[in-house]
Amino acid sequence: MVGMRWDAQRLDLDEPTTLPGMPSIRGLLRSVQVPEFPGLTFHEVRAKSALNHVPGESAMPFPYTINPYRGCSHQCVYCFARKTHEWLELDSGRDFDTQVVVKTNLVEVLRRELARPSWTREHVALGTNTDPYQRAEGRYTLMPGVIAALADSGTPFSILTKGTLLRRDVPLLVEAARQVPLGLGISMAIWDDELHAGLEPGVPSPRARLDLVKALADSGLPCGVFLAPVLPGLTDDVASLDSALAAIAAAGAHGVTVIPLHLRPGAREWFMDWLSREHPELVPRYQQLYARRAYVPAEYRTWLARRVAPLLAQHGLDRQSGGTARKAVDASGVPGDPEVGFPEGSLPTGGMPGVRPKAQLDPRTPVGEASACGEQLSLI
Ligand code: SF4
Repeated sequence: MVGMRWDAQRLDLDEPTTLPGMPSIRGLLRSVQVPEFPGLTFHEVRAKSALNHVPGESAMPFPYTINPYRGCSHQCVYCFARKTHEWLELDSGRDFDTQVVVKTNLVEVLRRELARPSWTREHVALGTNTDPYQRAEGRYTLMPGVIAALADSGTPFSILTKGTLLRRDVPLLVEAARQVPLGLGISMAIWDDELHAGLEPGVPSPRARLDLVKALADSGLPCGVFLAPVLPGLTDDVASLDSALAAIAAAGAHGVTVIPLHLRPGAREWFMDWLSREHPELVPRYQQLYARRAYVPAEYRTWLARRVAPLLAQHGLDRQSGGTARKAVDASGVPGDPEVGFPEGSLPTGGMPGVRPKAQLDPRTPVGEASACGEQLSLI
């Protein structure tokens, strides 16, 4: 029944971690399952803080992140955030996919933090750990409050997602882009239906994500696409890359970054399990490619870059054509990794601290012009 809540796991507020069999999650108020989201358990917590500081030595071009959710119902087998679920005493497999921690008081805490006189209005990134537009957002609607709070406080921000629920917030984002520089990144790389269903069963279809890119571009919002992860031996043939880049260019993406799969511990076990089941013939190749580290070797990256370069040019996505897909040449990571490339449109360039903008953004600048002000960061 719509609206009915199953809360048999309601917990005692004073002793939130004492029930046997329940994960020990700090600040846990209660755990709920609702009929609208079958198979998912939401662990509602009261967060103490909203803004996480990224360690100074990180190569990430953003000093702060916000993570409304932990765990992700998009269920990508290759997800690099899986390991973080173990900190909650949950496993990095099925639990990561189905046990989602929700910071229900996020917006309230965020507004408080942004109002501090010490807040320096540096770039805040969303979607660097788990997806802020995963299914839980349909129930908890945290992002509109986050976007409004950041914009109202004059804080530049970026959002990276695979979730087409972002469309709901397009009018808000258009409004926000009049107040602060922002960047939007959409990731998509698996176009084959069977692979998509096997590897990212909870993610909206590639077609739906292309429509999202188009909707963002049509609204005058910046939008960069991460063509990630490219899977060696499965999606790195010329025909697949060509049709993907053609579709991304046609949708109006401002830039593209092509990134091969990497396999960190946590994701590695789940991915290799899947590979052994579905493509056992590729197991030796992957074992060799990922023998020493989570990233593919330089030779593979160079090989992929050479393969991709003419396709980028052909579709007007290379630098010469006005695109900024240069990371196709040496890309190897995704946000959350030290070696990372960001496509144009995915970062709030124009107002980044430490980066001289091409033109100072006027808060009244129309959205289309604002996004055109961006320049590539020297970091990437
Ligand atoms: S959408 Fe992102 S965070 Fe969610 S499972 Fe997939 S890779 Fe992980």
